[in-house]
Amino acid sequence: MQDYTTDPSIRITDAIAHPLTQKMPRPTITSWGTYSTVSLVLVEVRTDAGHVGVGETLARFAPRAYCDLIETALKPRLVGQSPFDISAHWHSMRRALSGRSGGMLFEAISGVDIALWDILGKAAGLPVWALLGGVGRKQVDVYAAAVNWGDDAQADAELDSYIERGFSRIKVKMARPVDEACRRIERMRKRAGDGVGLCVDANWAYELDEAVEVGRALTANGYDWFEEPLKPEDEAGYEALRAQCGTPLAGGESNYTTDQAVRLVAGRTLSVLQPDVARAGGITETRRMADLAQTFNVAYAPHIGMSGIVCETASVHLAAAMPAFRVMECECDESPFKTQLADLPPGCLRQKGGQVSVPKGPGLGIEIDWDAVRALRDG
Ligand SMILES: [Mg+2]
Repeated sequence: MQDYTTDPSIRITDAIAHPLTQKMPRPTITSWGTYSTVSLVLVEVRTDAGHVGVGETLARFAPRAYCDLIETALKPRLVGQSPFDISAHWHSMRRALSGRSGGMLFEAISGVDIALWDILGKAAGLPVWALLGGVGRKQVDVYAAAVNWGDDAQADAELDSYIERGFSRIKVKMARPVDEACRRIERMRKRAGDGVGLCVDANWAYELDEAVEVGRALTANGYDWFEEPLKPEDEAGYEALRAQCGTPLAGGESNYTTDQAVRLVAGRTLSVLQPDVARAGGITETRRMADLAQTFNVAYAPHIGMSGIVCETASVHLAAAMPAFRVMECECDESPFKTQLADLPPGCLRQKGGQVSVPKGPGLGIEIDWDAVRALRDG
């Protein structure tokens, strides 16, 4: 039997940030353009009892700048402290920014926070979902992301491939022009048939009037949700759209902390809240956001973007434990950070019949391949 200990004398000895950048085998195409490379920061936190916790920071651009933040602004607040006082560390790290919550620092905090939960689970001999107070889920529902904003032939082929792989829910990327978007919405519905759940993600593509028009096409074609139609700061725009759109609105991946979700959730403007655990403030803060969603009868649907296996796995634990959970994103890009970083079948291969299994091992339940981390480092 393994010897687990949460001895309060254990201390954090180091926090190391690994900047990772690689070329994508297949580009992702959204309303923002084409992404050919993918970056993130893997965070490693160590203790004097030999624990190694891993976390992931969403770092789409300039990953080395995040490493500098972790090294200079966050690590000094952690070394010499107990790894188990996670909430205290969250608030201590948050005070490294004297302004409002948000930006790169919160993405950096997210990576450290996930690593601390991994340590707590490894020390206690319990998976993170159990530490969060599970609700008995052994599998979580996922949807395929995404049909890219490519030409019709590419969109048709991607839709077909997701259906062939067993997904019953699929996300389609949308952009301008509006008439082209409306045509794509109808085309995908006709091709998928009525038995497949479809939703769209516009990645802030539209002005309000455009979004109203796209929303009509979504409602006419029975789509499940309209994700990020407007830029995230335009909360009044979201409220106006909610009044004019019969399709539920989804958003939250661009939000940092509960503060930035509360108005749209409490007002039921959003029907689906989609925080990203590697951006919003880690497991500590994403749990608060999922609880907020539950309080107001809004669904929690974890966002997985061009993320790695650590973000994906942390999201599975949250999905397994949060009562408001509805469905998790299964980003089907072929990022090496999903397939090469850990000794675990890659995320989308674990997908079977539109579900993924919940890890059983202590902490996050994955073993990082540190040779792969060294090989994938950005300098
Ligand atoms: Mg999105």
